Amino acid sequence: MSAVRENGVIVAIDGPSGAGKSSLTKLLARRLGYIHIDTGAMFRAVALMSKRAGIASDDDAGLAELCRGLEITFVRDGENCRVLANGEDVSREIRSEEIGLLTSAISARKPVREALLIMQRAMGAKGGVILEGRDIGTVVFPDAEVKFFLSASAEERGRRRYLELAARGDQATLEETIAKVIQRDRQDEGREHAPLKQAEDALPIDSTSLSIDQVLTVMENAVRERLVQGDKG
Ligand code: C5P
Repeated sequence: MSAVRENGVIVAIDGPSGAGKSSLTKLLARRLGYIHIDTGAMFRAVALMSKRAGIASDDDAGLAELCRGLEITFVRDGENCRVLANGEDVSREIRSEEIGLLTSAISARKPVREALLIMQRAMGAKGGVILEGRDIGTVVFPDAEVKFFLSASAEERGRRRYLELAARGDQATLEETIAKVIQRDRQDEGREHAPLKQAEDALPIDSTSLSIDQVLTVMENAVRERLVQGDKG
């Protein structure tokens, strides 16, 4: 087993929307002292900026140009992480359901995936990072030392998303929210470029009837085990 990278291992967490990736990645990063990269937020930032610029979701040339001029950065804000697009804090604006669905459409476009792939590889190369997304273990870092594929039933994921939206004061029904989760899954799994797919060497975790703490323990143990192996490499 080879020694780990400069700052530690790369942990890839992939899975469909609402599987608990964001909360778990944040907690795991804190336990390990690792950096957390929310790649979905990067795609969401591109979607928001494309909407503002009036670029259609199938306009590859327009999207490519937008990505060339777009700088996405993450900054720590206490327990949270803010997302900046060309220096503007877009953390809240990118979280609406409308931007979520638009993101699913623009993230299927090749120029967008190519541009963000380069950014994500640069951010994670030294290790000591956890990247969460849809294609981290299959495309962005197929050589990541630890890979998880986190899932839960569509009903449970819809229910969790519904509670999140309700807490923010958004008006949506449970049925609508579940339907949107299923629609987004279809778009993400069915696309040609970097579809949502479990890497062959990923550890699958179904969180439908597990608590966050239970899943976190499984993940932390797997990473620590790998770190011990790496030290012997
Ligand atoms: O994770 P989140 O729900 O914020 O992601 C929003 C959308 O971004 C997903 O539905 C997916 O279409 C896209 N995405 C992606 N590849 C990633 C991360 C997110 O295509 N690595």
